[in-house]
Formats: sequence, structure tokens, C-alpha cells
Amino acid sequence: MAIVFKFGGTSMGSAENLKTISQIIGKKLNQKPVIIVSAIAGVTDLLLDSLKNKQSFEIIKQKHLHLLTEAKLDSNLLNAEFQELKELLDAVHALRKAQSKVADSEKLADNVISFGERMAAKILAEVLNQKGISAKSFCSWDLGLTTDSNFGNAKPLKESFSKIKQKISKLKIVPVVTGFIGKDRHGEITTLGRGGSDYSASIFAYALTASALEIWKDVSGLYSADPRFIPNAKKIENIAFDEAAELSYFGAKVLHPKTIILPLQKNIPVKILNTFRPKDKGTTIFANSKKVSQGAKAISLKKNMTLIDLHSPEMIDQHGFMAFLFEVFRDEKISVDVITTSTANVTVVVDKPNPVNLQNAVKKLSKLFTVTVKPSLSALCIVGKGLAENGKVTSTILKTLSEKRIPIEVVSIGASKLNMTLVLQEKYGIKAMQILHKKLIE
Ligand code: ADP
Ligand code: ASP
Ligand code: MG
Repeated sequence: MAIVFKFGGTSMGSAENLKTISQIIGKKLNQKPVIIVSAIAGVTDLLLDSLKNKQSFEIIKQKHLHLLTEAKLDSNLLNAEFQELKELLDAVHALRKAQSKVADSEKLADNVISFGERMAAKILAEVLNQKGISAKSFCSWDLGLTTDSNFGNAKPLKESFSKIKQKISKLKIVPVVTGFIGKDRHGEITTLGRGGSDYSASIFAYALTASALEIWKDVSGLYSADPRFIPNAKKIENIAFDEAAELSYFGAKVLHPKTIILPLQKNIPVKILNTFRPKDKGTTIFANSKKVSQGAKAISLKKNMTLIDLHSPEMIDQHGFMAFLFEVFRDEKISVDVITTSTANVTVVVDKPNPVNLQNAVKKLSKLFTVTVKPSLSALCIVGKGLAENGKVTSTILKTLSEKRIPIEVVSIGASKLNMTLVLQEKYGIKAMQILHKKLIE
């Protein structure tokens, strides 16, 4: 049985951290470790930028050369990648000059940003070998990961799981695998969505029916709120899969929202640990909810939400309105985060919709409804087992916000029994999170 480790961008950024990683892996060699890596922190953004700005390539190159020197590795290790990337970017800029549309395609962007993970995997494999651990870097596709062709937000194809298992079982060394990226059936490079190397790690953990999935970051686990905004946030030692899923879906930018789905199906515990403080206990995400406590546990905040209010007096005593509405959202590929209804109104809250799709949706919906669109909202999500049944907690939340004169646009409770979602104007988001964290958790 294998154990899957994922090291994030910040964990990969210094020679000191690379040494810590080799010590962590060194202790688990008898458990067949498989390592998934992200690009060095900031590199994916720089790669995206390099599609527009020629200077970014040099910054990316220097960042990696600096790490190679710091980690006492051969400075020529990434020469092939630098050259391939440079040639690709030169071609992009030439096309841009010729004002060709190709230069903007998502397919091309996925190809360019894939270099971040490809270089990071090579560096970590080299460091492990230097420390006496036999390791080899792999692109995920060489170990069986095939995705659909949804560039920028691809999903693994089912056939990947058995292939990954088959390929990894034959290896005699520690594989260091690129997170975030894959290839489709035509051999084109795809990515799994920003922050997607957590998701890659869960794909490998699922394929291998791993004993555990350890996700190493720059925080000692999942906290009751983002520690950057709430310095008093508390670490949660045990949390149920469904609670963690709600939190990551509603904006806790610590885990990619899709990370939990696959391990849950095989009861694989997911741990979040800190590369900077490897002795800290971290958070364990369990399938068995009996191990976790009841009550409000954590708060997350998702920004840039858009509210769509639909009004039609004809809704009363009629049917088919909702079917029409969902058809429009399906056709325009807009996913609905929150929905509430009343006699003649439906309010829908969506996450960063593509402006063209939103415009199309409004046009179609206007055939049946009077449509009002409100941008710049935040969704505050309070999560905990038993929350929906606990009238005291929910009334405290509403009372506290009303005392502070924070208006609420939409409230949703009860769908999952463990979350209450409040949609507020963006300017109140952080303040409301701080106040509620103090009242419910601190
Ligand atoms: P990685 O690059 O390793 O994937 P991320 O930057 O994606 O790491 O995630 C770690 C960051 O998530 C932390 O630095 C922290 O600021 C942020 N974060 C947001 N919400 C939470 C939360 N509830 N608990 C812990 N960290 C959080
Ligand atoms: N490097 C990718 C990103 O920045 C994937 C990840 O970090 O998980 O989105
Ligand atoms: Mg991340």
C-alpha cells in the first residue's frame, strides 16, 4: 500500500524546505511514498504573465537557477526546460505580433504553465537523490493520468486510475510527479484548475488506494478561518470530510475544492501538515463523522460573487420556471452556489461567471423574468456538524450581524445540514467574518 504526499509551492521554495521534505520522505520509505509537487510559489502566475510580458521568462529562469545554486544542484539541470519554454514563448510573441488569436488560447496557456510543475518535480527528485533516496521525476501523463480536453479545468478520465496503479506498482524508486497538469487523449497538455495539485494528489491517492494522503503546506492544518485575516483562528485537529468539503468549496483557499471527493470514496484519511513546522500535529480529515465535535467549527469567505434576482408574478401556481432557469445556467456553463425562492422571486448567487455567459443567461432569462444583477458580493459560509438543527447558533449569527448593522442579501441554510451561507456586500465580508469568528469560535 502506498502513501501519497503533496508538497505545495511554498514548501518547494527554498533549499531548507527541500531538505525538510527529504527528511519527511526518508522516514516513510518503507510505506512506498509517491510524491506530487506544485510549481515553486509564484511561478504559475509568472508563467501566465510570460504569455504577455517577455521579461517574465527571465524572472522564472533566475528563480529556478537561484534555487539550484542554493540546493547545490547542477545549474544545467533545467536547461532543456528553459530552452523549450523560451522557444514556445518566442512563438507566442511572434503570433501575438501577427495579431493571431492563437496566442490567447487556453490550450497554449496550459502548455506554458505546465513548465512550473515540470521543473519543480525535477528539482525535488534531484534533491532526494542527493540525500541518498532513489527518486525519479515524472510528468503525470507518463504515469497514466489522462484527462478530458477541458483546458484550464480538466478532469481525469476513468481509465487513468487503473493505469496509474499499474505503472506505479512497477517502480522501484520514489516517483516525484507533477501535480496540476495532465494530457488529454490527443496528447495535449491540460491543467486541473488553479490550486489543482491538491486534486492531482487525491487522484493518485485514490488510484493507489493509499493508506493516507498527506498534503504539506505553509500552515499547520485547517484553521477555523483564514489565518491571514483572523490572527486568532484556531487549528481544527479533526474534521469530517463533508465539513471540509463545504469549507473548501466556499472559499477556504487552503484545499482545492475537488480534493476530498475521491479519498472519501475509499475512506483514505487526508492530513494537512506544515513543511515549515513538520512536528506540528496538523489536521486530519476523516470519513467517520463520529470522531468530530458538533457546533460551528469554521468560517470561510468567498469573494467576487454575483447575485441574480429573478422576478415573475406568473410564477405563482405555475410550474416549469425552475426547469427553464436551470437549463439556461447549464447551457451557459454557470454553476449556481446559492439559491433561494419565494412566491414570485428566485435569487441565485453564482461564482465569478464568465461575463459573456452571464450576459447570454440574462438575455435568455429576461424572456420569463424581470432580471436584476448585483455584482461585488461575498459569501460567508459557517460550517459545523449539527449547525442547521441548532437554532441557537443560527439565531446568534443573524442577531450579531443585525446588531452591527450589516445587511444580509441572502441566507441559505439546511441544504447540507452543516452549513449556513450568508451573502453580503463585499465591503462587509471581512468585518462580518471577524465578528462572527469572535462570537462563535474564539
Ligand atoms: P499550497 O501552495 O501549498 O497549495 P495554498 O497557498 O494553496 O498552499 O494554501 C495554504 C494557504 O491557505 C495558507 O497560507 C492560508 O493563508 C490559506 N488559508 C485560507 N483559509 C484557510 C483556513 N481555513 N485554514 C488554513 N489556511 C487557510
Ligand atoms: N501551481 C498551480 C497553481 O498555482 C497548482 C497548485 O499550486 O496547486 O495554481
Ligand atoms: Mg494550493
